[in-house]
Amino acid sequence: MGGRERIGVYPGTFDPITFGHLDIIRRGAHLVDRLVIGVTTNPSKEPMFTVEERMQMVRREVADVAGVSVVEFDSLLMDFAESQGATLILRGLRAVADFEYEYQMAGMNQQLNDRIETVFLMADVSLQPIASRLVKEIARYGGAIDKFVTPAVAADVAEKLK
Ligand code: ADP
Repeated sequence: MGGRERIGVYPGTFDPITFGHLDIIRRGAHLVDRLVIGVTTNPSKEPMFTVEERMQMVRREVADVAGVSVVEFDSLLMDFAESQGATLILRGLRAVADFEYEYQMAGMNQQLNDRIETVFLMADVSLQPIASRLVKEIARYGGAIDKFVTPAVAADVAEKLK
C-alpha cells in the first residue's frame, strides 16, 4: 500500500448542494489524497435539477477545495467507487434520521465489496439540520434559504421556481 494515493468517494444527489454537504466535503478532503464527489442521476428521487445542473453547481461550489473532483454516476455505488480506485466511501450522518438507512446501506455494501470502507462524518452542529429536501420546500413557499445554501445556489433555486 505504501505510497499509494488514498481516494475517497462522496456520493449523493446534491439537489441542491447545501452548507451541510460543503462542510462534509471540506472535512472529507482532509482524510484522503483525492476526493471524488459522485453525483447520482437518481431519477427515482425526481430531482429539481438535472444531473448536469447539479454537477455544475457542485463544481462551482467546491472550486476552492484542493484535491476534489466531481463525477456523474449511474451504477451500483460499490462499482462506481471501485472504478475510481477508491478505498473509502464518505457519508454524512445527521442525528438519528439518517442512521437506519445509512446503517443498512453500509452493511450491505460491506457484503458487496469488503475492500471498501464506509466512513461517516458529522457536519458542524449548526449545519446538521440542513436537508436539500427542506431547502426546496422552504423555497417553494417563498421562504429565505440563504442560511442553508450559497447565494449562487439560492439564485439557481429561485430561477428554477420562476
Ligand atoms: P442521498 O440522496 O444519497 O441521500 P444527499 O445529497 O441527500 O444524497 O446527501 C449526500 C450525503 O450527505 C448523505 O450521506 C447525507 O446524509 C449527507 N448530508 C446531507 N446533508 C447533511 C448535513 N446537513 N449534515 C451532514 N450530512 C449531510
